[in-house]
Amino acid sequence: MEIISLAAGSSYFKSPTTATNAAITALQSGQTTYGPTEGILKLRRAISSKYKAEGIEVQPEQVLITPGVKQALYNLFITLLRQGDEVVVPTPAWFGFHELIRYSPGKLVPLPTHLAEGYKLMPEMLSSVLTERSRILLLTNPGNPTGRIYTKEELEALLEVTNQYPNLYVICDEIYDLVTYSSPVTCILTCKGAKAARTVVVNGFSKSFAMSGWRLGFILGPADLVNKCIDFQGATLSGVSTFIQEAALAALEACDQELAPMLEMLEQNREIMREGLDAIPHVTYFLPEGAYYFFPDLSYYLNRTSITGAQLKTTPDLCRYLRTCYNLELAPGDSFGVPGHVRMSFAVETHRVKDAMQRLRQGLALLLAD
Ligand code: PMP
Repeated sequence: MEIISLAAGSSYFKSPTTATNAAITALQSGQTTYGPTEGILKLRRAISSKYKAEGIEVQPEQVLITPGVKQALYNLFITLLRQGDEVVVPTPAWFGFHELIRYSPGKLVPLPTHLAEGYKLMPEMLSSVLTERSRILLLTNPGNPTGRIYTKEELEALLEVTNQYPNLYVICDEIYDLVTYSSPVTCILTCKGAKAARTVVVNGFSKSFAMSGWRLGFILGPADLVNKCIDFQGATLSGVSTFIQEAALAALEACDQELAPMLEMLEQNREIMREGLDAIPHVTYFLPEGAYYFFPDLSYYLNRTSITGAQLKTTPDLCRYLRTCYNLELAPGDSFGVPGHVRMSFAVETHRVKDAMQRLRQGLALLLAD
């Protein structure tokens, strides 16, 4: 039986051909030396135009091209955080935030949201964790691993709270913004109450454009903060390779024709995974509105004994059992701050989603058999 992994964060889709061709052309024409630290002007312009088309007045000088969103976030953390500063992160959240903050002077403060409430983050929940030490509120829209999309009204209600804290920055990670199944994502910069001096968007090409290995992201924020981030990037990494930026530019220009077939496939896979989960008793989940993961609660299947005699006490134990006995790899929810759940990507080939759901159903059913 081949291994099926639903644990990865990158999709199986090929990067856009237009991007690959643009990179090859750039390499062949000799674009192999240092480029500008902040990124090539035509890509910064193209990104600012994309946002201007949504009604967001953002100048190319407010865009910093980074080697991935990870680096965009790390750059912001290093620039903004001092010892003991707090970064409030609604959970479940991508494990990378925790890892990045561990290497910065700041401290992550989790703000739990719950499946039973559709992972809704109410303004009073936010009020209850913000203090004078809070330096960053880090939102993810759509969420990873929940796939939840904040509505404009929700974002505006949260901004009303954050605006009571003059030292607080709101960073919104919108890396999955083009991967949606219902309403489009509202960029936080279009919201009433989004202070230009305190609101930052990070985004990139890893997810929407299936370009995770190219390492391409960007920061969109107030010019003074972006300048500080440019300084840090200049001192550490320098600019992103220019042939990669040429590829990103080509991908952006071909956005509509490149994304449509991918989204169609993802929508179909989401339906198959949903049906598969519905066929398993005692499993609850949130139907993702964006990104490409389900994050079901499998806690009913914990504290049982596997056919090998192993006690499945924790979610990693359960995942190990499915990996060993069914060649099925899932990501334990513990890394996302929620044990008992697992993250399952449906950005894999359709036949693999189908097989995976069968294996999961069989594997879990066997745990209930006496
Ligand atoms: N933010 C979120 C929410 C992610 O899920 C990921 C990747 N899994 C990243 C950032 C990192 O993106 P990049 O590949 O651009 O560094």
